[in-house]
Amino acid sequence: MKNTEIFSITHKASRRSFLQSAGTMALGASFLPWLAESSQAENLLQDNKPLGIALVGLGYYSAYQLAPALKQTKFCKLTGIVTGTPSKATEWEKKYTIPKKNIYDYKTIDRIADNKDIDIVYIVLPNSMHAEYTIRALQAGKHVICEKPMAVSVKECQQMIDAAKKANRQLSIGYRLHYTPHHQEVMKYGREKTFGKVKIVETSDGFKIGDPNQWRLKKALAGGGAMMDIGIYALQGSRYTVGEEPVSVWAQEFKTDSVKFKEVDETILWQLKFPGGAVANSSCSYAAGLERLFATCEDGWFEMGPCYGYGAIKGRTSKGDMNLPQLNHQAAQMDDFAQCILTNKPTRTPGEEGLKDMRVIEAIYRSIETGKVVPVS
Ligand code: NAD
Repeated sequence: MKNTEIFSITHKASRRSFLQSAGTMALGASFLPWLAESSQAENLLQDNKPLGIALVGLGYYSAYQLAPALKQTKFCKLTGIVTGTPSKATEWEKKYTIPKKNIYDYKTIDRIADNKDIDIVYIVLPNSMHAEYTIRALQAGKHVICEKPMAVSVKECQQMIDAAKKANRQLSIGYRLHYTPHHQEVMKYGREKTFGKVKIVETSDGFKIGDPNQWRLKKALAGGGAMMDIGIYALQGSRYTVGEEPVSVWAQEFKTDSVKFKEVDETILWQLKFPGGAVANSSCSYAAGLERLFATCEDGWFEMGPCYGYGAIKGRTSKGDMNLPQLNHQAAQMDDFAQCILTNKPTRTPGEEGLKDMRVIEAIYRSIETGKVVPVS
């Protein structure tokens, strides 16, 4: 059968039957390799609606970033919510015109399996709840986006990846920066050696955390402190700037408030060694503002800052300003995932990416415990 014939059949097929078979086709290596992203996704949407997303956990990130971003998306829209707070259910039902049948709580969430308005479930809960709810959503037959950090251990990350494979559904991690032109440019500089080989990278992310009673300061819910929450951005930055996986890490922890940070880390500094000889020096903190990525290479340098928040990203190189467009990170990320599902293309930020970070984070905590350089296995 010619490619054009297959396309015509696919094009005529209903969106729903396409989505149901998309997971199966993913196993067949390169189904529809000639499809080029956006226009194909648009074709698949022509007679149909954007994919439906259900947000699980209606806290800060859902309410102030994801839900507003879902008003700007083209390939997906907010069609469902999962919340344990009845007053939020009423508020969101009105504000976003969500039908009552698409509102769930943490006990009824598995019934989402029968809801054809929901294609993607987005987990926006405290970190230690990510694995359980991701796996339940996958078992309900939905594609899943799970917020960072993917989970609180390598073991959980692996269980989530296995569950996605078993359910034949896509799992993406909410690494919104991968969808911004600036971070993509930095990845390209590393990959294409635009300024020669990367030699030394410095990355830092931090902010002053408020409320001492929040879940981010409780080990059982957060899994760790600044490292799990925002150090992960600095770690990611160094990994994709160098374009390699680190082989070893040496890390140090500093605490100025042992009451507030009794259960989790306040400030961590760490150094990574990469197989090609590059090194990274990074930090994260819940005690002070930090937001920067700097890379020095054989023939020049590049840097970004601010670069991890939701607002405008600024980037410069030894040849001048980056001058790249700014966009809504979350809208770009969710639309990209919806297009991946529509065109049966793998997500840029699969579970495996979250697992790679968690391997390094576990090694960082082991290095702090032992005071030694620890291999990243
Ligand atoms: P939040 O505290 O504002 O919201 C958490 C939500 O989980 C609330 O709706 C809360 O009711 C619900 N919840 C359910 N069970 C809970 C329990 N046992 N304890 C506490 N809350 C419970 O947190 P947030 O800032 O929205 O963060 C949620 C997730 O999103 C985290 O994993 C965080 O790392 C991630 N996040 C990502 C970004 C990003 O830029 N990608 C930004 C902020 C948060």
